[in-house]
Amino acid sequence: MPPSSKKSDNALLEDPLLQVLPELDDDCPGFVFRYFSPGPHGLRRETKPTKISLEAENKILTRVATVLADRPDILQRLCCLENGVEVRLHQGHGFRDEELEVYFFGRTTVHGDDAILEFAADEVLHGGKGDHSDVMDVIVHELMHLIDYLDDDDGILPNWNTKQRHAFETARMSEWVKLKTDQATPMVAYALTNDVEFLAVLAEVYWVKPKALKQANPTLFTLMDGFFHP
Ligand SMILES: [Zn+2]
Repeated sequence: MPPSSKKSDNALLEDPLLQVLPELDDDCPGFVFRYFSPGPHGLRRETKPTKISLEAENKILTRVATVLADRPDILQRLCCLENGVEVRLHQGHGFRDEELEVYFFGRTTVHGDDAILEFAADEVLHGGKGDHSDVMDVIVHELMHLIDYLDDDDGILPNWNTKQRHAFETARMSEWVKLKTDQATPMVAYALTNDVEFLAVLAEVYWVKPKALKQANPTLFTLMDGFFHP
């Protein structure tokens, strides 16, 4: 089975993940997409994909392939989780959770080998343009959570040694201070939520505003760059 095992028969472009992982074991599920629409009382029910969902799906796969282009080892690890990476796309609006959840537009949950990414299809396609001003790239944000959660959800990337970890914590503190004292930084206030969110926002900034990050905080830029482009 290819990295993205689609439930629908719609043949999109050739799976972008195959460009990073041309030879994936047959027993690795890859990215498995499911689609939900709001039913009665806003309860979500699984349905067929809409055209928008298929576009969102392709955008997610393309973005993941870009971000992990130099980390086939990580992509392989994700694709070869027991159930792969389940991606749930919420189609349209009117879900009950949409009102209740502080941040419904993207969510990552990992329990053991069960990894689930949830997205609002609209946010994937049209987000990061001012509606939710703190979100620059919901795909990168949730992907970073997923990578962080692979070892533990501590806001520290796997494989960092003690020295790198210390450098990261010092540099992170400097950005916290900037955010709290209204000094210029490409980071956004959502990063102050906790260590895990800081890392996810940092990944967004690295991928969306790399020059600004390099200028504002060369240590954080170098750590991100070393991780994504070893
Ligand atoms: Zn987050």
